[in-house]
Amino acid sequence: MARTAVLGLPRIGPERELKLGLEAYWAGSAGSAELLGTAAELRAAAWRRAAAAGIDVIPCGDFSLYDHVLDTAWALGAVPSRFGEPDRDDLDAYFALARGSAEARPLEMTKWFDTNYHYMVPELAPGQRFDPRSDHWTGPLREAAALGIAARPVLLGPYSFLRLGKGLPEPLRLLDDLVPAYERLIGELRAAGAAEVQIDEPCLVLDPGPADLDAFAEAWRALATVGVGLCLTTYFAGLQKAAIGRLGELAPDELHLDLVRAPGQLGPVLAALREEPTRLSLGVLDGRNVWAADLDAALVLLDRAAGAVGAERLTIAPSCSLLHVPYEAARERAIDPEVRPWLAFAAERLAELATLGGALEAGPERRDGLLAASRATREARRRSPSTNDPAVRERAAGLGADDYGRSRPADERRRRQRERVPLPELPTTTIGSFPQTAEIRAARRDLREGRLDEEAYERFLEARIAEVVAAQERLGLDVLVHGEAERGDMVEYFGQQLAGFAFSDGGWVQSYGSRCVKPPIIYGDVSRPGPMTVRWWRHAQSQTDRPVKGMLTGPVTILQWSFVRDDQPRQQTCVQIALAIGDEVRDLEAAGAFAIQVDEAALREGLPLQRADRDDYLRWAIDCFRLAAAPAAPETQVHTHMCYSEFNEMMEHIARLDADVLSIEASRSGMEVLDAFAGESTYPNDVGPGVYDIHSARVPETDEIERLLAIAETRIDRDRLWVNPDCGLKTRRWEEVLPALEHMVAAAHRRRAAGGQSGG
Ligand code: GLN
Ligand code: ZN
Repeated sequence: MARTAVLGLPRIGPERELKLGLEAYWAGSAGSAELLGTAAELRAAAWRRAAAAGIDVIPCGDFSLYDHVLDTAWALGAVPSRFGEPDRDDLDAYFALARGSAEARPLEMTKWFDTNYHYMVPELAPGQRFDPRSDHWTGPLREAAALGIAARPVLLGPYSFLRLGKGLPEPLRLLDDLVPAYERLIGELRAAGAAEVQIDEPCLVLDPGPADLDAFAEAWRALATVGVGLCLTTYFAGLQKAAIGRLGELAPDELHLDLVRAPGQLGPVLAALREEPTRLSLGVLDGRNVWAADLDAALVLLDRAAGAVGAERLTIAPSCSLLHVPYEAARERAIDPEVRPWLAFAAERLAELATLGGALEAGPERRDGLLAASRATREARRRSPSTNDPAVRERAAGLGADDYGRSRPADERRRRQRERVPLPELPTTTIGSFPQTAEIRAARRDLREGRLDEEAYERFLEARIAEVVAAQERLGLDVLVHGEAERGDMVEYFGQQLAGFAFSDGGWVQSYGSRCVKPPIIYGDVSRPGPMTVRWWRHAQSQTDRPVKGMLTGPVTILQWSFVRDDQPRQQTCVQIALAIGDEVRDLEAAGAFAIQVDEAALREGLPLQRADRDDYLRWAIDCFRLAAAPAAPETQVHTHMCYSEFNEMMEHIARLDADVLSIEASRSGMEVLDAFAGESTYPNDVGPGVYDIHSARVPETDEIERLLAIAETRIDRDRLWVNPDCGLKTRRWEEVLPALEHMVAAAHRRRAAGGQSGG
């Protein structure tokens, strides 16, 4: 008989109890006993829910006070020397790695694969020593046992731990020292009563080469000698051919596959492992998205595997940890009652898992009964007018090549734009947002909670816009912005005004530490009922003779930071969003905007994990940007902004964006990143490399900015160079922003005066 398993559970708490607990602890209003008590309660509640849903294999040790990669480094004693020799029972010492201390900067944080979760990057040094401690797992193992649950400890495996770390040119060479530490950990788990252990090795799906696979295989063989059943879990993409070959030889006790992302790996894996005793854990339910599953489709995969190896060798599971979905869709009140049943958060996933377990056992006659409700929901969703807006579908179907680009080539556009609005050399601008003060956040909250009416709110925003415009005029900036005071979030603001988007009240997922995000849910065909930003732009432009940039979020970024419908290709949803954003471009232009910025902060984040898929993604993603920008006339200047600049392997795609002006992050590398823009693949249009880091409160000096500009001029032709900060200013305070921009403008003036002479 097949069993059911979960690889990981949400941990922030149904009411974000962990967030509140952490914040209280950090603020000093609660002690460590209180925080640890909250954590233990959250773990117990999660286990009870999984047990009540009838799940057979329930995880432990996946819970974290901050981040599971940090926990792994902490448990292994892999702590950078700047933190000294911390007492590993000291909570503050643990949080210092995550948040920094007076003496030491924190570990870096980066995205966990292609999710919106962020992990703390382990820092490894040559000659790194490990000193394993297993209490992070043995503690919860005993807590679960006290509730009558034989939980399965979850460890991030040694191969992935090293691959996710930084600091070593050849990290896998450290496996020789690390594997014994893991052997000890696993041995202690066995002694504490664990019957099996889950070893997460998601890095196995990232194009491993033969040497990587050798190193992994050697490590795995050593771990397998400890004498406890090991489940090797992979997720977020499929195992490639060479990896499957190796796993056929290694024959782990259990192997987990993400069949939502990569159903195609099932056939080769079955072929490789059919004769081995390996149990297969099939991730047939989406652990990263929020839609009620197509259980019939899942059963097709399960039946096929059961036919090949027997149902008793199968585990049915979500594709990955449920960390990436919210708690419970049934508790949602704000979502349209038609749409709500289409959703499945973690609680509903557990129920689906149990249903699948029953259905796999049941004969065909009983299956109909078990699946009837789920089938009816899918059918209602498929036929709903919200998922089938004929106007949107016709418009998308009628698109031709001409719709995917500007009407005139870049050099002609540049000439016409310069005639329309002559700008000085090295024009100065900002990325869009100005400080989001407490007053601004309070006004938005008051509006939401009914203490402020629309009318009063609008007057309030107009006053803020007038202030921001006046400040920019005083600073002498050339292309102004309205400041984005109306936006709490650059995706939510647009989603709330577009058809096809829903917003949950409790749909929080952890982003990092205590921080959560509540992504919009794109459930239907997307269209724009009316203008979204024009009135704010209009008010800003009415205050000044200088050009004010319209400010929009691009289609790829909106897609990337939302839960996206799973009943059509992502690309198709992105095209619909692009058409809606293009409508806004058209309206801003009609209102008189000279410059319009379409931000694509998340374009790079959407890159597929495996190299072979990247070109295809970049092609359609950039097509969508082009579709959104296409309505702009040649005289209208289209800007785009990206918060990063490692474009090395994608320069031809970036060029294809064909934005008139591209602003990027560049100050932290001292303009080094501009190398990709010089050289052979010379980027043809204007570029605004960020000249100061907005993530820091430090105010840059004029000299410093001037030096960066002089370097930039050696990489980018002077007449194509813009001057701007690295990113938006919303997280900064006015006291920092005003002097920083003053220095930026002064530096630009000095470079203009230098007239292209180096030095400065
Ligand atoms: N226009 C946005 C801002 O300035 C861009 C933010 C971003 O790139 N993340 O805030
Ligand atoms: Zn940015």
